[in-house]
Amino acid sequence: MSAYIAPLKDMRFVLNELACLGAVAKLPGYQDATPDTVDAILEEASKFASEVLDPINYSGDQEGSKFAGGQVQTPKGFRDAYKKFCEGGWNALPFEAEWGGQGLPKLVSTPVQEMWKSSNMSFSLCPLLTQGAIEALLLRGSEPLKRAYLPSMVEGKWTGTMNLTEPQAGSDLSLVRTRAEREGDHYLISGQKIFITYGEHDLAENIVHLVLARTPDAPAGTKGISLFVVPKFLPGPDGKRNGARCASIEHKLGIHASPTAVMVYDKAVGYLVGEENRGLEYMFIMMNAARFAVGLEGVAIAERAFQRALAFARERVQGRDLVGGGGAVPIIRHPDVRRMLMLMKSQAEAMRALAYTTAAAMDFAHRHPDKETRNKHQSFVDLMIPVVKGWCTETGIEIASLGVQVHGGMGFVEETGAAQYLRDARITTIYEGTTGIQAMDLVGRKIAREGGATAKDWISQLKKLDADLAKSANADVKALRSALAAGTQAVADCVDFIVSAKDPRVQFAGAVPFLKLMGIVAGGWQMARAALVSEKSLASPEGDVSFHQTKLATARFYADHVLVQAPALRNTVVNGAAGVMALSEEQFLAA
Ligand SMILES: Cc1cc2nc3c(=O)[nH]c(=O)nc-3n(C[C@H](O)[C@H](O)[C@H](O)COP(=O)(O)OP(=O)(O)OC[C@H]3O[C@@H](n4cnc5c(N)ncnc54)[C@H](O)[C@@H]3O)c2cc1C
Repeated sequence: MSAYIAPLKDMRFVLNELACLGAVAKLPGYQDATPDTVDAILEEASKFASEVLDPINYSGDQEGSKFAGGQVQTPKGFRDAYKKFCEGGWNALPFEAEWGGQGLPKLVSTPVQEMWKSSNMSFSLCPLLTQGAIEALLLRGSEPLKRAYLPSMVEGKWTGTMNLTEPQAGSDLSLVRTRAEREGDHYLISGQKIFITYGEHDLAENIVHLVLARTPDAPAGTKGISLFVVPKFLPGPDGKRNGARCASIEHKLGIHASPTAVMVYDKAVGYLVGEENRGLEYMFIMMNAARFAVGLEGVAIAERAFQRALAFARERVQGRDLVGGGGAVPIIRHPDVRRMLMLMKSQAEAMRALAYTTAAAMDFAHRHPDKETRNKHQSFVDLMIPVVKGWCTETGIEIASLGVQVHGGMGFVEETGAAQYLRDARITTIYEGTTGIQAMDLVGRKIAREGGATAKDWISQLKKLDADLAKSANADVKALRSALAAGTQAVADCVDFIVSAKDPRVQFAGAVPFLKLMGIVAGGWQMARAALVSEKSLASPEGDVSFHQTKLATARFYADHVLVQAPALRNTVVNGAAGVMALSEEQFLAA
């Protein structure tokens, strides 16, 4: 089985040339993100991913986490890996120095997280959920709460969870029923939560649950939900066991090593985060980070599936060369296998570029001294988050599926590992809001509500890029320009259609195809930018000729095989609504 090797060259290219790390490092407080420091971090992270996390990915999947007597045992090697992860300071990396972190930009923690997710998605979910819980506390936790919980959580001694879902409350959190009754300086939390990632495990000393619940006098619906910290063990010298227990863990299609817990709260002591009835509002503020992180899982799993398929295609000997004659050859020589590998490679690179560029915009939105610039970047981030989440995860699944296809029958059996990526990828379009929910967010909140203003700003950026592309005489760049212009027009038509549609059913019927259109055009935008950088680099005497030739060819492939779908998607969005709603429920049932 081939080992994971972090795509450091592409990561550095995207960081420096497309996501403008140099400019991010000039933002206040990010001066430590020097090229040397970032390089050293990437090198070390890549070693940890290849040497510690990747080797326990397949075995972790086969063994899975086990539940017995209220306890969860993670697979062999996970405890040791987690210990090393925390000792290496990796858990703390994304956080502010004040809390023991390294205070690095989001743009720098993004490739590092990609490596964790590529090498072992199940493992990566534990620090990811801890990060979400830390961010909730940073955002609205009182000073005593922060002091009691953050240092141990940032260090990784304690992990965190997010408890939103209940049996009757999945996409629709207004239906949350878990109760919180005031008792002195705290609350007593009672109810059941399902699907709680790392809700119970044996990696850390304590688990800090962030739980959505309702106080007795709370208004119905989304405006009556509050957020509570409910630790497994109460902080303090006696470390009393709280009334939060795991009732079972799920048997799942993928991410077998990541325990997905049913949690029962029986008058568990909980502490309010922020104000009563504002829990969902806090969750929404944090949602960009969480959705971005899941989008990155799409990128990561696509990269990993590609690496494995490439290694297999170089080894598997089958069929004769179409032109060379002679005996059987490695399947990488066959055009259709090349096509599949190029689909995997080009889309993984386009998604990475979009994700990292969005991460950089988060840094600008957070730290730029000028308010207007911050707002502009925040609007871009808000527009792109559902695209990064929805498009990268949907495409991640397609790429993992192509990985199985490249393996032929060996992809369908477990021992090559290709099947695991497909199974693991399958959850990414479901949790943290399904693709349908992302698409509705994109169309409703991010486009229709503001008359398409941010989308139109982005379209004007695409048009500016067109002017730069027009200056090139390179055939690949010309092809990209033409496909991107058609894609830009397709997005512009859809934005006008969405903004002018009077019936929300018409707007939403094409929401997922529109999200896909936005994704492939945004990916094309990044590939076109990359192509221009590579064209320029090839004209200079220095630089990595092989890398830039490869990038240009990959970008050209993306234009011809992926971006080219844009006009058809436009037609689906603009003309397809009637067909979506055509059948009555009775007609669905009729034989
Ligand atoms: C492995 C795993 C880990 C998870 N981890 C966590 C966790 O750590 N914490 C946590 O709180 N939750 C977690 N979840 C829960 C996850 O976030 C939910 O499963 C997800 O939000 C979808 O909710 P649901 O399963 O109830 O599906 P439903 O909401 O019932 O959706 C079913 C289908 O209906 C569609 N749909 C629903 N409403 C609408 C609408 N208004 N318009 C259009 N389509 C709609 C959806 O897109 C979907 O296709 C996890 C789930 C899994 C499986």
